[in-house]
Amino acid sequence: MSKKTFTKQDIDILEMLAEYKWGDTFTCLKCGKQNEVIKSEYHSGRRCKCKTDESVPAHTIFDSNNLSIEKLYGILKYVDDNAKRDWKEQILTIRRHDSISPKDFAVAYERGEISKANFDRQIGEWAHDTKISITHTAKVFGVEENSIRLLFEKIDSRIEDSGSDNLNIRIMDFFASHDWEYNLGLLMFPMRKDDEWNRGVLKKDGKTYQVRPQPFIRNEDERKGLAWRLVEVEE
Ligand SMILES: [Zn+2]
Repeated sequence: MSKKTFTKQDIDILEMLAEYKWGDTFTCLKCGKQNEVIKSEYHSGRRCKCKTDESVPAHTIFDSNNLSIEKLYGILKYVDDNAKRDWKEQILTIRRHDSISPKDFAVAYERGEISKANFDRQIGEWAHDTKISITHTAKVFGVEENSIRLLFEKIDSRIEDSGSDNLNIRIMDFFASHDWEYNLGLLMFPMRKDDEWNRGVLKKDGKTYQVRPQPFIRNEDERKGLAWRLVEVEE
């Protein structure tokens, strides 16, 4: 990882993502101390005085993916743009023709108003027709489907349950209904591998935690951003 060569653009992206990941506060995932930082071996990384060195992609949705950070970020932006544009248009079209949105369609299916065969056929059509299915995205970026699938699965483990059993649909639904700042905040939040996460919810020592946005002032020009932090929630 540290031997890898980075382009200027890679470094810009890493710096920006590091801002979303840690903001002003770096909490060491190993010893739990805050802001005890020394120089990291990684570009824009954070290294704790306890010697734990954390790269920007580590413990985020970009972890363990063999694609470059520049490409992964490009894919994410592509998915976000297209989900917001095409997906919303499709929902409108579907509403016009069938007077039902995919979400309402999923609810109707759960109520038993639509047969399993009809449900699968319709969902399959919607997922296949969109520009951000795993297959289509892999083609656009000239990468293996497995890399996109890994990215989508990592995103999926962090997002709320939209009620669909189709991964493409869940991803589209998520990107279509949240703005980019929110998406990056949630997707860059460092989640420890050994903790048991389920759709952005962590259960530990009998308590339930969720990753939630907290307003904070980033930069000197007081641009308001959102820091995603772990907060205890009622069960
Ligand atoms: Zn530490």
